[in-house]
Amino acid sequence: MKASRVLLVALATVVVAPVHAHAAPLAPPATHQQTSTASPAPGNQPAVSGDEAELLYAMERAETELKRSPLLVRDPALNGYVRGVACKVAGDQCANIRVYIVDVPQFNASMAPNGMLVLWTGALLRMRNEAELAYVLGHEIGHYTARHSLQQWRRLKSASAWMSVFQLVAYGAGAGGVAQLGTLAGSAALFKYSRDMEREADRLGFASVVSHRWAPHAGADLWARMWREEQTRKYDRPLTLFSTHPASQERLNDIKAASMAMVAPPTDLGRERYRAAVHPLFPKLLEEELAQRRYAGSILVIGELLEDAPTEDQGLLTFSLGEAYRRRGLNDDRAKAADFYARAIALPGAPAQAWREYGFTRRDAGDTATAMDALRRYLRDAPDADDQAFIRRELEKIGGSP
Ligand SMILES: [Zn+2]
Repeated sequence: MKASRVLLVALATVVVAPVHAHAAPLAPPATHQQTSTASPAPGNQPAVSGDEAELLYAMERAETELKRSPLLVRDPALNGYVRGVACKVAGDQCANIRVYIVDVPQFNASMAPNGMLVLWTGALLRMRNEAELAYVLGHEIGHYTARHSLQQWRRLKSASAWMSVFQLVAYGAGAGGVAQLGTLAGSAALFKYSRDMEREADRLGFASVVSHRWAPHAGADLWARMWREEQTRKYDRPLTLFSTHPASQERLNDIKAASMAMVAPPTDLGRERYRAAVHPLFPKLLEEELAQRRYAGSILVIGELLEDAPTEDQGLLTFSLGEAYRRRGLNDDRAKAADFYARAIALPGAPAQAWREYGFTRRDAGDTATAMDALRRYLRDAPDADDQAFIRRELEKIGGSP
């Protein structure tokens, strides 16, 4: 099979994961025969010649598949908001960029050489404000305008990194669900950029944030949190965003320094705008985060969200922390969960389930009266819940009437 056909198969197989993992390239830096790296002209796809047309054809197929994917988030308001920020950042490249939000509970964003920008919902959960979103999108669009993935393509064609394409086919053949997307992302050599490319994308992202008057520290704030999350994964594979990337701390220092060096920096974070757009998804995003069963990371992520949360989100986030501890169930996790449920029900925005879980912890503690009150409150607040019958039986077992 011709090598280029193998890539086509690989890309078509992993279309829901067209990601770059911000990692060092598998191939050694090759000498480029073609060195045209100028930004694509506004309103046009990048001009390509010969073999690169194959790459763009493959990406177009991937994009067609992506549009049909059940993982694509289609909510018009959210898409409109993210696209608006992307367009602002992209400036005269706006017409070349298409943004796709994909329902995967990990932090990642990627940019394909044909202008297909993919953002995972795990990133939306983790970002705090519009300035951070702008930084991430600016970074990705920087990869596009600097034509990094076209350069990677040239490397792939000229080096032993073809092996990674074969790996991709093997992974793709067995790919079943979301859990494997991260693995796939890590092996998509096409989207692994060199350190120099990452630095350039960081610089371009930073410049676009600042030029639109967003606060310059947003990128460094986000990176610092991702770095902390990465430290919770000692025995797990790295965050998709980092994959095998060796230079995260160095990049963090660089963007921090760039932000500190600004005299009279702009201060707009766009917290309220971001929150208004993303907040309706919060319960779903939190549930998907917990469903990954990576509790150490989730406890950190949710705990940090809580530190910075507006009052009306505190009940939901506190309940979610309780859920993380209860589901993990190690050592004194149950006691911690009980404590978070008790706090959650006293806070604004607590979901009905907080009353249910609080009720169970009181039942287990032998506090029958409080348990029954809490479970009755749950039945009242969640009249359509599919565990209504189950909770009624529980109430009877405890000794009361529903
Ligand atoms: Zn990057």
